[in-house]
Amino acid sequence: TIGMIAIDRKGNMAAGTSTNGVKFKIPGRIGDSPIPGSGAYVDNEVGGATATGDGDIMLRFLPSFVAVEEMRRGAAPGAAAAAAVARVARYHPSFMGAVVAMDRHGNTGAACHGIPAFPYFVSDPGNLQEPVQMRTVKCTL
Ligand code: ASP
Repeated sequence: TIGMIAIDRKGNMAAGTSTNGVKFKIPGRIGDSPIPGSGAYVDNEVGGATATGDGDIMLRFLPSFVAVEEMRRGAAPGAAAAAAVARVARYHPSFMGAVVAMDRHGNTGAACHGIPAFPYFVSDPGNLQEPVQMRTVKCTL
């Protein structure tokens, strides 16, 4: 899965997710990626989020929506992503997945579960020194 959250100079935001789906997927399976609030969610006034992992579990919890709503309540992106991941893990401790979040100011964070660590990339064309940065978060297990 490739999930992206973008913000332009005017503050317009977008989020999207593309996926080839889980391995051995059954014909007709839709999965979590195209479901608004699950695979991705965004609100210009708050920020956006995107999710990857065990989609059939995660889509029951709308993790991208949860992360954006957590940011609306004042959480930083990393804490918002952690809250969304923790919500899933509470009911499915063995699930594997990650949520990436970015607020409307461009601050980013991520959280993950079921794997040791999760890398994500931050691209800022205005940062001439380091236009693309890789960041890694440790996951809950
Ligand atoms: N969430 C995707 C799915 O379940 C898989 C992935 O994120 O790699 O279809």
